Amino acid sequence: MTQSVEAPVAPRTPPETLNPFEIAVKQFNTAADYLNLDLSMRKVLTTPKRALIVAIPVRMDDGSINVYEGYRVQHNIARGPAKGGVRYHMNVTLDEVKALASWMTWKCAVVNIPFGGGKGGVICDPQKMSKGEVERMSRRYFAEIISMVGPEKDIPAPDVNTNPQVMAWFMDTYSMTVGYTALGVVTGKPLAVGGSQGRNEATARGVLVAVNEAMKKTGKNLLGSSVAVQGFGNVGANSAKLFHQAGARVIAVSDVTGGIQNSNGLDIPRLLAHVEKYRTVQGFPEAETISNSDLLELSVDVLIPAALENQITLRNVNNIRAKIVAEAANGPTTPDADVILRENGIVVIPDILCNAGGVTVSYFEWVQGLYSFFWDESMVNSQLEKIMVGAFKDVYESSKKYNVDLRVGAQILAIGRVAEATEVRGLFP
Ligand code: NAD
Repeated sequence: MTQSVEAPVAPRTPPETLNPFEIAVKQFNTAADYLNLDLSMRKVLTTPKRALIVAIPVRMDDGSINVYEGYRVQHNIARGPAKGGVRYHMNVTLDEVKALASWMTWKCAVVNIPFGGGKGGVICDPQKMSKGEVERMSRRYFAEIISMVGPEKDIPAPDVNTNPQVMAWFMDTYSMTVGYTALGVVTGKPLAVGGSQGRNEATARGVLVAVNEAMKKTGKNLLGSSVAVQGFGNVGANSAKLFHQAGARVIAVSDVTGGIQNSNGLDIPRLLAHVEKYRTVQGFPEAETISNSDLLELSVDVLIPAALENQITLRNVNNIRAKIVAEAANGPTTPDADVILRENGIVVIPDILCNAGGVTVSYFEWVQGLYSFFWDESMVNSQLEKIMVGAFKDVYESSKKYNVDLRVGAQILAIGRVAEATEVRGLFP
């Protein structure tokens, strides 16, 4: 009897995952292997502690009612209250918020501040809503998550499409509910209601310090170096400004509508005025247009992704020609692409180190609010620089000790600190 022989099936490379939480767990396990963490500790440290899904009914200007879906996730609070921003975006998902919350846990541990990780999000497009609609949605969202937040529990902050005004509404909503003004419940607030000097630029300032430290390791310096920035919001625009002030040549920037380029260097002060007026980088004179994907592939000393996740993937990684990728955004590089960047000799300053300046100054803002004693900007900036330089050194030493790249070095450092806190606290009950 003849047997049918099936043709051997060629092994197929599974498609890379773009699910941010799967990516976060994968990154965690890579570092956990170096730390020899047992399965129990891995389960504790990868499972978010709390996650709340809320429905947010909002009366729109035309009298109709829209119901938005929102989330708040506390990933881990072993080292202190949860800390992390709130994102307003159509692509928000629970898994994205879980990933962002876990990156906050590791980020706070990298810079060694006494916070755990949290994050929030609402599925919405605030660009298509009036100011009144955004205010009503923000207040109702905060009222819905109020059982989770508080100065000693969970302290939100701005993220994509949220800003100091939204933080003021959050703070007011909480304060009206508890019956007194609680400055410590959110950070990234306007200066008039307990914001910190330097908070607005803090994430970008941290990026600048981290890039400067990375350059020193290779005997280079910022002066005259070429820089491309993807995303022109809080982090991207302030990065362009601070790198320009530090003497770098910012040759390309972009926002959600696309980018602009001038190989001699863009006039950043004029560009900032243009964006203030027109709300986009488009139409800026003395520059050519460039797509967001082409911007990522420019041959520059420093590429700063400062928009969203999954920008450098297997699709484009071999076209990346930057010498340093400074991850100002959270999760801009997939793990598979990360491996190839390393093989191609590109230095990646990982998000949990690179953009930690924001949460560091949020920590200062929280401390100032609790004490009702406020620092001047030079104090904020010098303390920020001290923490970022120290964190870069710790991460660099961790990566040398384990012979790994900066991302794995940062994860080992952070996960080790949170595991130690978890271990020493013990398991309740
Ligand atoms: P933002 O809303 O102020 O700005 C986002 C910018 O990205 C806008 O210019 C927008 O036009 C642009 N953008 C959106 N989609 C894009 C796309 N597909 N391609 C190119 N550009 C696009 O947000 P932000 O606060 O600057 O945050 C940017 C990133 O930095 C996010 O990943 C955020 O999680 C991270 N981050 C922010 C802070 C902070 O303090 N705000 C701190 C740490 C990390």
